[in-house]
Amino acid sequence: MISIPKGIKDVTPAQSYKWHYIENILRDVARDYCVNEIRTPTFEHTELFARGVGDTTDIVNKEMYTFEDKGGRSMTLKPEGTAGVARSYIENSLSSCPQPVKMYYMTPVFRYERPQAGRLREHHQFGIEIYGSASPQADIEVISIASAVFKRLGIGNLTLNINSIGCPECRKKYNEALQTYLSSRISDMCNTCKERIAKNPLRILDCKEPKCKEITLGAPVILDYLCDECKSHHGAVCDGLKALGIDYKVNPNIVRGLDYYTRTVFEFVSDNIGAQGTVCGGGRYDNLVAQVGGKPTPAVGFGMGIERLMLTMESIGASVGNPYAPKACIVDMGGDTRAAAVALAEELRSNNIAAERDISDRSVKAQLKYASKIEAKYALIIGEDELKSGLVTVKTMSTGESNSVARDAIVKFIKEAEL
Ligand code: ATP
Ligand code: MG
Repeated sequence: MISIPKGIKDVTPAQSYKWHYIENILRDVARDYCVNEIRTPTFEHTELFARGVGDTTDIVNKEMYTFEDKGGRSMTLKPEGTAGVARSYIENSLSSCPQPVKMYYMTPVFRYERPQAGRLREHHQFGIEIYGSASPQADIEVISIASAVFKRLGIGNLTLNINSIGCPECRKKYNEALQTYLSSRISDMCNTCKERIAKNPLRILDCKEPKCKEITLGAPVILDYLCDECKSHHGAVCDGLKALGIDYKVNPNIVRGLDYYTRTVFEFVSDNIGAQGTVCGGGRYDNLVAQVGGKPTPAVGFGMGIERLMLTMESIGASVGNPYAPKACIVDMGGDTRAAAVALAEELRSNNIAAERDISDRSVKAQLKYASKIEAKYALIIGEDELKSGLVTVKTMSTGESNSVARDAIVKFIKEAEL
């Protein structure tokens, strides 16, 4: 047998209803916030991610699934959702649509990472992208969408950490202060961070190594280096969240792993799903569109990991209803009753009642057993007697109770029983 590659997963028929349940809620929330879906391709030119995500990031340096196509071009499977959206915004001239343009995506994401709980090589993200508004109101809107998703899914225990990493100007000053602080402590740092000091000192703030963590505790704090405009933007975002009753913690160590962020950065973290607890990460990226070749366009958004959303829901026992449990399973005795069963099944289905019938030529006893196994609500039994008298025996599987119902009233009977 050829087994599935490491770090990726199937969704089996018995599990898929959970995905549909979550996906439906995500789409509902998007609709209620007037956000339309954007679909971009699964792979792009490698250059897009190198430029968009940034070539000092772990994603670009270590995690991309890059291949050469038969024409010798370097292509990469989406390692995140935003760069493709930015390209599409430019290429499809979405800047000529009414601004801001509010978009969501639901997409597989590919990263060559060490597989562990909550960390896969193919995972799925729901993301929000708002292009064309520099106002803190857009940041607030994005965060409130994530918050609405959690509320509707029954996840009430996430911590929202928020920070501002300023604009390139304030960050330059901050980076210098940080580099000065870190340089005197370089010998105690992990090897990755030693290299980061010169290239990307900010990333050291979210290093998971205990020794680096300890060092960063005493580091200068970016919020003290923000210019007046960045400071007032950050303040307005915090005020807006307060007004909406969304709890948050200002955490100066949140810097996010992607290079494109400016000003607001945030994460929703779960304490219940182990070390990979970040369910949603996002922020503002005012320089991204220009960086990938468009006109300067302010933008803000987030990416939410659907697998981690599921782990969180499981960990707190949030319920996921199965909308696909069959309502009816029709049991027949062959011959004329088979033809009647086929017609009844079609009638139920065309009335949006999920109905199953025997397509394996089983005995009556085996059909009843099957009805129970698939957890059908009713077994609808059609024997010769029922056929002659124009009736169907309706057996409620949970109680074993049987009723005779007129064949022509079956749809009505089931619909009324569901009310
Ligand atoms: P992490 O801190 O786990 O490395 P990240 O900063 O790389 O996350 P983003 O690039 O912001 O994450 O992706 C957005 C969300 O996608 C994350 O918050 C997480 O929920 C999910 N995610 C990211 N990488 C993985 C993965 N390898 N497997 C499953 N989910 C993931
Ligand atoms: Mg990562």
